[in-house]
Amino acid sequence: MRFGHTFGRWVLDSLLPPRCMLCGEMVDEPGRLCAACWQGLDFIAEPLCPCCGTPFAMPVPAGMLCAACLAKPPRYRRARAALVYGRGGRDLVLRFKRADRTDMAAGLAALMRQAAGPLLHEADLILPVPLHPRRLWRRRFNQSALLAQALGRQAAKPVLLDGLERLRPTPSLGGLNRGERRRALAGAIRVAPGRRALLVGRAVLLVDDVFTTGATAHACIRALLGAGAASVDVLTLTRVVRPDIV
Ligand SMILES: [Zn+2]
Ligand SMILES: [Zn+2]
Repeated sequence: MRFGHTFGRWVLDSLLPPRCMLCGEMVDEPGRLCAACWQGLDFIAEPLCPCCGTPFAMPVPAGMLCAACLAKPPRYRRARAALVYGRGGRDLVLRFKRADRTDMAAGLAALMRQAAGPLLHEADLILPVPLHPRRLWRRRFNQSALLAQALGRQAAKPVLLDGLERLRPTPSLGGLNRGERRRALAGAIRVAPGRRALLVGRAVLLVDDVFTTGATAHACIRALLGAGAASVDVLTLTRVVRPDIV
């Protein structure tokens, strides 16, 4: 039974010493990583493209955009992520998503908060990227919604869990290029009926666990801006980083 399982886990968690989210080593507080696992993470840090958040290989003049944003400005205002999707970053995402480790949400949100900078302060409303109900049923929780809820709690910001909905399940996007991903997602995400009024004129922060090509975020942003949102920023736990040519 889900409730019993969760409650049992909560009782256990509150009795047992806190453990590293990745390797299980004992740590000072719940939702932390041990020193060794911490060092295995690739934190995304300045210098960054002020728009998409891609790290630059070398220092650049303040405000300088990366080549990709110059060539084609994204529809989001800014995107930021805490970790590179590789090594420890991927392990964290997979453990959170597949191993039923809902207890990790607060610790992961704390990592995202550090990377968010003004994105979190300036947001009126936090929204998670939606999962299709069928996938939600299979996985039992929407990892993006858990991250959004934890961020909202930590930053004292309102969270709209059901602002967006997926109209049909999308096939796995792995192996598809950007254009193919966008086509697979076209029309798949919309603002939920009855939620438009909450979005008009608001600065929205869209939350997800991984930013790959931005195709999923793009489908959400289209829907949000179409409903009258003033702006959309994107905050993810991890992102796939390709070397940028400045
Ligand atoms: Zn560890
Ligand atoms: Zn950029």
